[in-house]
Amino acid sequence: MSKDVLVVAERRDGNLRNVSFEVLEAARKIANGGKVMAVLFGQGEDGEAEQLAHYGADQVYLVANEELNVYSTDAFTKAFTEIIYMVKPDTVLLGHTVMGRDLAPRVAARLELGLISDCTDVEIQGDEVVFVRPIYAGKAFQKKKITNGITFATIRPNNIAKGEPDASRTAETIDVKVTITDIRTIIKEVVKKTSGTIDLTEAKIIISGGRGVKSADGFNPINELAKVLGAAVGASRGACDAGYCDYAMQVGQTGKVVTPDLYIACGISGAVQHLAGMSNSKIIVAINKDPEAPIFKVADYGIVGDLFEVLPLLTEEFSKVPV
Ligand code: FAD
Repeated sequence: MSKDVLVVAERRDGNLRNVSFEVLEAARKIANGGKVMAVLFGQGEDGEAEQLAHYGADQVYLVANEELNVYSTDAFTKAFTEIIYMVKPDTVLLGHTVMGRDLAPRVAARLELGLISDCTDVEIQGDEVVFVRPIYAGKAFQKKKITNGITFATIRPNNIAKGEPDASRTAETIDVKVTITDIRTIIKEVVKKTSGTIDLTEAKIIISGGRGVKSADGFNPINELAKVLGAAVGASRGACDAGYCDYAMQVGQTGKVVTPDLYIACGISGAVQHLAGMSNSKIIVAINKDPEAPIFKVADYGIVGDLFEVLPLLTEEFSKVPV
């Protein structure tokens, strides 16, 4: 059965985020011939609607209210709820990003709908849409469907591959102004902690350091390799707690959940709370001097050795090959 699916597209630093295209791909699968609609909040750049069309949107709603230029829970909740009433979709999808995690449950609750969050896959079983999501810190997977009302779900970044863009595809663009009143919080300025670095949640390669790096300077060999590989740098909570790096870098149950193609864990023991954030990475490499470290149980490749010896050797070798 065909379904009309509404997707929330996200921007970061003026560009559409990758996760928007991944969610569009999930939407195309679910739509099965129905309409794929995308909504973009705030004033953006030219060409955004075209880009969304190339990745599968049939209609793009541009809600260019000034109050929506920066994310705020109140304003986005009001605008998004109004858009849902307007377009009446069968399914609503968002990225399981900081914004999606805040917005989706609030709007779903307002509309008295269920929400399936943090999905890593979508399966079509006959007429039913079944969402797959990890549970117990990634140790098992649960399959869920919504049986009543609009299906509402968030999709974890880096799990559903975005489709091939088709430059010949076009979308109908619809400009909408919504009424936004009674805003309780106004965002005056967004101050970034980690400017200039690659976003961990969207990175294809991540190199993380743990307490084994022993100091803030101990991240230097990790940063060197990251430069060569074009990787983002993450950390265990052990490293953050020790003051070696910023908490914005923390991967794990109480940090960021990441699913890169390659995750290199350096001097990280592999506590279950760390694994909760990275065990769905496609390839895991562990560098640890303790051959009994639990991280080796989840690693595809393990190097037993001192990270301060191993990392410079890897950097030297990878520098010889164009990446
Ligand atoms: P350690 O466990 O101390 O391991 C250091 C490792 O480095 C050891 O395996 C050692 O062999 C190795 N090593 C030392 N020197 C070298 C060297 N020169 N070369 C190579 N290897 C070396 N942790 C997270 O990471 N993320 C979370 O989100 C998180 N959330 C938590 C939530 C709760 C409620 C709790 C209770 C804990 C949480 N933790 C989290 C903490 C977690 O339990 C661990 O304490 C933490 O992950 C340990 O960090 P680590 O592996 O860097 O340190």
